[in-house]
Amino acid sequence: MLKHRELAVSGWRKIVQFEDTDAGLNAIIAVHDATLGPGCGGCRIYPYADFEAGLEDVKRLSRGMTFKNALGGIPFGGGKAVIFADPKKDKTDEMIRAFAGAVEFMDGLYYTAEDSGVTEHDIEVIQSITKYAAGIGKNGVGGNPSPFTARGVWRGMQAAARHHFGVASLDGLKVSILGVGAVGMELARLIHEEGGKLVVADVFEPALEKAKAEFGAEVVSPEDAAAADVDIFSPCALGGAINENTINRLQAKIVAGAANNQLRTPEMDAALRERGVLYAPDYVINGAGVISVGLEITGQWTSEELNARIDNIGDTLTEIFRRAEDAGAATGEIADTMALEVINKGKELA
Ligand code: NAD
Repeated sequence: MLKHRELAVSGWRKIVQFEDTDAGLNAIIAVHDATLGPGCGGCRIYPYADFEAGLEDVKRLSRGMTFKNALGGIPFGGGKAVIFADPKKDKTDEMIRAFAGAVEFMDGLYYTAEDSGVTEHDIEVIQSITKYAAGIGKNGVGGNPSPFTARGVWRGMQAAARHHFGVASLDGLKVSILGVGAVGMELARLIHEEGGKLVVADVFEPALEKAKAEFGAEVVSPEDAAAADVDIFSPCALGGAINENTINRLQAKIVAGAANNQLRTPEMDAALRERGVLYAPDYVINGAGVISVGLEITGQWTSEELNARIDNIGDTLTEIFRRAEDAGAATGEIADTMALEVINKGKELA
């Protein structure tokens, strides 16, 4: 039986813990802000060390979605879910069905989608129980977000290069990609096709072989990816790629990648600016996946509409870069300010 317990957390619209011991479910759904619409964001399945660790993660992630969705221009607030489990060992359809019951319990205040540990199959199972889920391709609509995310990052990278180097394309520029997975590999292809040169790093040897064979990429170790002699550094693996160690070794003049939480600490935002490095804020440049999910939910998904929205990521970033320059402020700080402007406007209209 699905049991629930609401947690009173100041600053969050609603946080509920769900438990169904028969189904092996222990989950938290957090809606941070619902000014612009229901909270929307993926579900992460992860073997958190304890309840506090999962709660902290779902708070951090749901708050991030509030900002991402606001600047992504979709009518959704910030939401996220976590399930306390190892997706490789513990995940069952029964657990996922119980989670769908939890999503249904939120009664439309939260829409779920994929995050780490959740597959398109899981979303199908969830959709058999609740309508508040998206992120799978049906009849040529929606689908795997990774290629969309890659295209958004590519567009954002072009906008950054235009702003910082005054060039019309990535042709002739050198880009170091840390993590050539689902997003990084597609991004490498787009850069290669445009005439860019590539340096790649990964812990997965076959991905490196592929990037070398198909795009003539130079391979470096993950430790050296940030320090490579390139124009642009693109973190596309895990979070924290810009940290106390890497920032002083950075040779690139632009940081533009797909990874979430690229700055290990908030201080890195100003530190990049002080070093003359243009940072494309992560949640803006990697927002195409959730934009696709948002269009699926609102029934507006067409590839033309999605591509137009993705291309708009470049325009949003250009505005962030200009405003940061005018204000003498860091780009991450300006992105947060702009997201809050969108949310506050939503509050006025409510
Ligand atoms: P992925 O798992 O397909 O690819 C990640 C790649 O990074 C893999 O090739 C992996 O081997 C490599 N990697 C892992 N640890 C590494 C390390 N320590 N050093 C070097 N390489 C390492 O994931 P993805 O879907 O391509 O996502 C990449 C990043 O972008 C993640 O941070 C993800 O949260 C973020 N992101 C993805 C999407 C999306 O649509 N997939 C959307 C928004 C943000």
